Amino acid sequence: MSRIAALLETLAPIGRNEQGGYDRLAWTDADAAMRAWFLAEATDLGLETEVDRNGNLWAHWRLRPGAGLIVGSHLDSVPNGGPLDGPLGIASAFAAIRSLQEAGASPGSTVSVVAFVDEEGGRFGLACLGSRLLTGAVDPERARALVDRDGVRLDDAMRAAGLDPDALGPEPERVRGSYLELHVEQGHLPVDGSGAAGLAAAGAPLGVLTGIWPHGRWRIDLPGQANHAGTTPMADRDDPVVRAAAVVLAAREAALAEDALATVGRIDVEPGAVNAIAGRASLWLDVRGPDEARIRRVVDAVAAVAGVAPTEESWTGETAFAAEDARPLPAVIRELTGADAPTLPSGAGHDAGVLRAAGASVAMLAVRNPSGISHAPGESAELPDIELGVAALALVMQRVSAYSVQA
Ligand SMILES: [Zn+2]
Repeated sequence: MSRIAALLETLAPIGRNEQGGYDRLAWTDADAAMRAWFLAEATDLGLETEVDRNGNLWAHWRLRPGAGLIVGSHLDSVPNGGPLDGPLGIASAFAAIRSLQEAGASPGSTVSVVAFVDEEGGRFGLACLGSRLLTGAVDPERARALVDRDGVRLDDAMRAAGLDPDALGPEPERVRGSYLELHVEQGHLPVDGSGAAGLAAAGAPLGVLTGIWPHGRWRIDLPGQANHAGTTPMADRDDPVVRAAAVVLAAREAALAEDALATVGRIDVEPGAVNAIAGRASLWLDVRGPDEARIRRVVDAVAAVAGVAPTEESWTGETAFAAEDARPLPAVIRELTGADAPTLPSGAGHDAGVLRAAGASVAMLAVRNPSGISHAPGESAELPDIELGVAALALVMQRVSAYSVQA
């Protein structure tokens, strides 16, 4: 069994639920088990480990002084997520380091592995929290006050996990080197210049991501009149769930018309009783697309049907990665696969986007996902493709002195 296969096997039971999906939400027991795995594996590789003030995990392979290459991803998942979104990047980095160590090869400068905490925002609702805190993109006070569905505050959750939430705050000097993230492909987005949708259609095991589509999240609160399901005539009802249904359909229609992506993935209905007309329905609308104008048009169309103004909970503009930041990747992919590296955008947000927005040098490598399914148990990648990804990371690490953009 290859190193990466063995590493993925050790992760397979952690946070696995009865549906075969994964629940590794930030600051839960499963998250703690993933974090313990990171520290144990890094120690086994002889790396220096540390936890930064925001709870991000670091493992340094110090070969030369100064900033070098940072390879990372995240260990948390969305509720009932897939096995690979996040952990694949970390496990691949460890497997690449192991292969270099065994071959006696050494990169030109320090290689660090980072696991950013709470990338998915699956528990507290704010994605990329670890990297946002690190770069100063979110106020620590706001982060501490975030509340999960059970009413648990983030600072209490951190404290329960043994961390000090009062220490939260920016440490931008940590990301002065170049950041490289290997990630399982998510969806089948258009591959540049090929007409193919996704790496599988393009016949390519690996691709280079060129950036992240702009995206936002909105909350739509629909008021209504709570009443008895058995005594209120249909004509007299003010039922917010009926309007919620119209809003969901409007979101789909507007996204299709604009060639964008719109999703209502969460609806809260109050009081949520089977025999009562709801008094209120809240929907969360996620919209992404190639440009901001289309996204705004989708949100406007949805707002017109909802009859209320959506509350913008988050907005992230387009993040374009600089082609020169990915410099060694195309050559490395060509060397490993015998073909030019395809390039494609990401429809999903990533810590790499947060770091890029803060001025860091970032690159992302995508591993082919045959189904395109992500954030769900069907997320997958073939082992030979994953092994090619590990080989690509190892080659980039080895050439890191040519790669790193020193601060
Ligand atoms: Zn991810």
